[in-house]
Amino acid sequence: MENTKKTSLKHTLLKFSLVPVLVLGLVLTLISTRTLIRETTDEVSQSLKIAARSVYNTYSLVAPGDMYEKDGIIYKGEVTLTGDYSIVDSLKESYGMDITLFYGDKRVLTTLTDQKGKRLSGTSADEEVSHWVLENGKDYFSGKISIGGTTYFGYYVPIYNKDGSVVGMAFASKTRASVMTSVRTNVLNSMAVSLLVTIAALLCCIVASQKLVDALKAIMDYLGHLANSDFSTKMPVSVLRRKDEIGAMGSYAATVSCSLKDMITTDPLTGLLNRRACRSSLQKMIEQCRENRQRSLSVTIGDIDFFKRINDTYGHECGDMVLRSVSNIFKKNMEEKGLVSRWGGEEFLLAFELPLAQAHEKLEQIAAEIRETTFAYEGETFSVSLTFGLTGVTGEQPLDEIVKDADDLLYRGKAEGRNRIVTSETGKA
Ligand code: GH3
Ligand code: MG
Ligand code: MG
Repeated sequence: MENTKKTSLKHTLLKFSLVPVLVLGLVLTLISTRTLIRETTDEVSQSLKIAARSVYNTYSLVAPGDMYEKDGIIYKGEVTLTGDYSIVDSLKESYGMDITLFYGDKRVLTTLTDQKGKRLSGTSADEEVSHWVLENGKDYFSGKISIGGTTYFGYYVPIYNKDGSVVGMAFASKTRASVMTSVRTNVLNSMAVSLLVTIAALLCCIVASQKLVDALKAIMDYLGHLANSDFSTKMPVSVLRRKDEIGAMGSYAATVSCSLKDMITTDPLTGLLNRRACRSSLQKMIEQCRENRQRSLSVTIGDIDFFKRINDTYGHECGDMVLRSVSNIFKKNMEEKGLVSRWGGEEFLLAFELPLAQAHEKLEQIAAEIRETTFAYEGETFSVSLTFGLTGVTGEQPLDEIVKDADDLLYRGKAEGRNRIVTSETGKA
């Protein structure tokens, strides 16, 4: 059940992060591919246009004048065009594309060749080109011009005679195959970049989701221990270090745990362990003592003598003050060693990791300090004493039996006149 929940959270997070990234990556790739194809085509069209204009301008410079035919030979001004391929060949070399000069719709000079390498001079442009360029005087661009069995990207510009009539065409072309190769290269490069970016984004999503799930799992485990009243588990630092809501959740859980632990284990009036926490700590001490025979343990229950009188004489608040002061004396003397708790009312349970004789000695000091303490309340002073029942613990005794021994000894002390420590003869001392 627990596992399914964890898995489903991870799956949900991954679903909500990976799917959009994948879709976005796909859409971006499609858009960039389409844009790239269009831009590359536009670029090719521009470069063909520049080359075609340059053919026109070059011939206008080197052969000024009108274009005309005489005895099957084409002239431009004084210059004979037919058969002189030097200019188209050098333009082909500079622009890296095929160059053609038309007289009417006939190719006069061209760098285009057939399969056998023979120039395609003398062949004609198709009807659509003639219609646009020769009849209407417009530029013409197409990516699907078929010449001699090969498909080209080509750009036509009209050539005018002085009277303004269109007499021929300048044409620059590139094979469709070569253009598509560079389109493919560009598209593949851009796809590779998109793919890398998408993979990086996916990895980021996976790592972020994993970290989130780990942090939530750590908080869940922590709360699970808390639910079983186990306050020993620590909230992982990795969760507390987070600056986001999960980090805040972790630190709230840790704070709740501390408050809860205090609430469950500590007596609010005196700050000592309460009876429930005392029983569990004492149980641990008894077990350690059982496991290691070298260790000693002595337990005492102390009860303030005639405490009811203090309440009756000075009031309940004064009684509380006495309870706090006595508790502070116990705390100060136990110094983290051993155990001190408010067993109930004006009774305290103390456990010493000492043999009975040494524990007795130590308890004598504490009892004397309390006895010698002067309490002042609303101008009046008084002192208190306690009666203690002190017992040494043997390895086999269960907790309740030890407590009963201490309690019986305490009652004996009360009966014998109070303000004393009554010890048992049992124990390792
Ligand atoms: P003994 O010497 O036989 O122990 O006499 P005692 O008066 O101390 O014992 P008794 O059991 O008659 O009275 C204990 C009193 O302690 C009664 C109760 O009201 C008081 N008491 C218990 N808890 C608290 C507390 O938290 N604050 C105050 N002020 N009084 C408390
Ligand atoms: Mg009592
Ligand atoms: Mg009492």
